[in-house]
Amino acid sequence: MPEMKGILIGAHLSVAKGLPAAAELAIELGLDLFQFFTRNPRGGTARRLTEKELEKWERYRAEGKLAPPVAHLPYTVNLAADGGRALEFARSVLKEDLARAGLIGADYVVAHPGHHKGEVAPALQRIIELLKGVEEVYAPGPPFLLLETMAGQGKEIGGELEELRVIFEGLGWPPGLGICLDTAHLFEAGWDLRQQDALEILAENLEQMFGRERIKVLHLNDSRTSLGSRRDRHEKIGKGEIGEKGITAVVTHPFFRRLPMVLETTVSDYREYGEEAAYVRQLAIKKSPDCQQKQGI
Ligand SMILES: [Zn+2]
Ligand SMILES: [Zn+2]
Repeated sequence: MPEMKGILIGAHLSVAKGLPAAAELAIELGLDLFQFFTRNPRGGTARRLTEKELEKWERYRAEGKLAPPVAHLPYTVNLAADGGRALEFARSVLKEDLARAGLIGADYVVAHPGHHKGEVAPALQRIIELLKGVEEVYAPGPPFLLLETMAGQGKEIGGELEELRVIFEGLGWPPGLGICLDTAHLFEAGWDLRQQDALEILAENLEQMFGRERIKVLHLNDSRTSLGSRRDRHEKIGKGEIGEKGITAVVTHPFFRRLPMVLETTVSDYREYGEEAAYVRQLAIKKSPDCQQKQGI
């Protein structure tokens, strides 16, 4: 009988007090991993990593058996920037933060694809041009640069899977590029994760358009806004429009449950993630086919 494999679940934590402190908190909360911003999400400066911090981080991480962390680029990076300081900023953050991710053993660096100025096609071309110059994208990871699926709010790129596919195609399917899914964004972009058939179609599309191996990380969030709203508002697991049923469908689905999951829900204190992760683990066991097999159902 196959051994039931548990899910890998973590949450977005602050590293303002350093990586070792974040690792300590993750371990205390019973998380398997954590995600962090590579620098101030709305600003631009990166924290300096000292030798001492790195050494401590490595030790804590090994002792706590944490899975590789996920790095997230600041929201101020626009990969579709059309020149000037915005483009320079995107270029330098990509270069520096991918290097930092390599240094600390973060296997994944998540980026929002960016914003267009009214026309999507030229913006996708600008993203392609920018990423062509990024060495890590062409090197087999880790670290992998992951483009995130978005809600498609306003002029946001990434609300359609096809937009992301165009970027992969334009770059010639480089080995260091992957995808980060976000359940809230997918739902807000029109994928009804509560319906088993919609979930199957999504998994099939991802498989056919990108290949299973390109899908690396899953942001697990409920949505405060309705199906297809194109408005990005996260909600606590089970408390939003996707609800317990939809989240259970995702975390018990073989295509999605194998991915490292990161909670980015609307907690008022990071400590609440401990309970939320435990809740998700329960949901993941509930209807798992392996589990049913075990019980002889
Ligand atoms: Zn994100
Ligand atoms: Zn979001």
